[in-house]
Amino acid sequence: MSSYVKDLVAEIKAKNPAEPEFHQAVQEVAESLSIVLERHPEYRTSKILERIVEPERVIMFRVPWVDEQGEVHINRGYRIQMNSAIGPYKGGLRFHPSVTLGILKFLAFEQVFKNSLTTLPMGGAKGGSDFDPKGKSDLKIMRFCQAFMNELFRHIGSDTDVPAGDIGVGGREIGYLFGQYKKLRNEFTGVLTGKGLNWGGSLIRPEATGYGATYFASEMLATKGKTLEGKTCLVSGSGNVAQYTVEKINQLGGKVVTLSDSNGYIYDEEGIDEKRLAFVMELKNLRRGRISEYTEKYKKAVYTPVDPKLDYNPLWNHKAECAFPSATQNEINGKDAQNLLNNGVYAVAEGANMPTTLDGVKLFLDSKILYGPGKAANAGGVATSGLEMSQNSMRLPWTREEVDNRLRYIMKSIHKTCVDVAERFGTPGNYVNGANIGGFLKVADAMMDQGIV
Ligand code: NDP
Repeated sequence: MSSYVKDLVAEIKAKNPAEPEFHQAVQEVAESLSIVLERHPEYRTSKILERIVEPERVIMFRVPWVDEQGEVHINRGYRIQMNSAIGPYKGGLRFHPSVTLGILKFLAFEQVFKNSLTTLPMGGAKGGSDFDPKGKSDLKIMRFCQAFMNELFRHIGSDTDVPAGDIGVGGREIGYLFGQYKKLRNEFTGVLTGKGLNWGGSLIRPEATGYGATYFASEMLATKGKTLEGKTCLVSGSGNVAQYTVEKINQLGGKVVTLSDSNGYIYDEEGIDEKRLAFVMELKNLRRGRISEYTEKYKKAVYTPVDPKLDYNPLWNHKAECAFPSATQNEINGKDAQNLLNNGVYAVAEGANMPTTLDGVKLFLDSKILYGPGKAANAGGVATSGLEMSQNSMRLPWTREEVDNRLRYIMKSIHKTCVDVAERFGTPGNYVNGANIGGFLKVADAMMDQGIV
């Protein structure tokens, strides 16, 4: 890392205390950008990196709501509008008790580069709340979503900022949020993506992140003359991204042996085939149960609860060729990364955002495996949100095939950008540099064109 970048990272850490995930995301990107800033002194003069780490706007607000028993609850809501150089702000909403300003800033920062990589005109944002939807009635969820939108509506719009889902925000929550926005604004626009099919949603949007991560893995494997056919895969999480990752891996002939939630994970040596996946989807999306229930139905599978005393996650300690972390940030630490390598994993495609710690990333890069970082591998979700925005603007829906073909084409071009840029900047095969630099250049040039704003 150059001393210019090193000093800048130190300054950012000092200026944004108690935001370790934001520091981590900035450090990873800044390390990749050292060489770009050497080659392009004009970016240094215009303080592009200094500006790109500073959100254009941070909105933090009170969300008071009343449950069906009449009890008053107060949550905290956020929207981080990070960068709008190449298009309206775009990025998901996360409802999870672990949500803090620092976590959303890291996610918004990552989103800027990811959205740039998709080839579509979208700026970067992220938002959410420390609200925990787990185990809550539909009525509580609706009341919270309405209270959240009562403030958010004045900051978003189809040409300003278009939120989508993320952890804890799926089709049900997007429905309640959209309904309240429509009532407050008295207009029907594409202000949110991930909408229901009969009110402006796009086919393939629910599948897009998982399918996209699998397409990205296939592209990486193809550079070594390999495919997913017959490969054993480890998948974490059991939500939206994990479910459609499993579906696509199965379609491409691979075998998935793990899934998890925040309480533990299951290992099914026989593979989570189409029928078993249908069971998981029903369990998670309708009954909203725990992944441990899988072993009640499929007796040969083994459930392992989370053990807080362990300094590694046993899910990543099984023999396999490919891994798809699809739950949350920092779910693969240095020890987990080493376990994956020891067990023969040579391709990692990140469905989740920043699931690997910095020491884990270093191990993957040093071992020269195929390592697709989240901002490239999971960009299919936001790309398809971009396609939903296009369809809303045209008021014309595309067929499943049309959207899926576009998604596949976008994942192919993101992969090509990563490979070409990594090569151009002297680190062939390094998808981290390829994604960070590739995403940065487009945004940086737009910022140069638009002056100091
Ligand atoms: P969901 O809420 O649908 O599923 C999240 C899954 O991860 C659940 O199984 C959840 O378990 C588990 N999980 C969440 N937090 C933790 C935690 N702290 N520890 C262990 N497990 C946890 O979310 P998505 O599938 O949409 O998102 C998963 C990841 O993918 C996130 O990193 C998200 O940012 C990223 N992503 C999502 C996109 C999308 O389109 N949805 C797009 C790009 C990235 P439990 O039910 O117990 O909480």
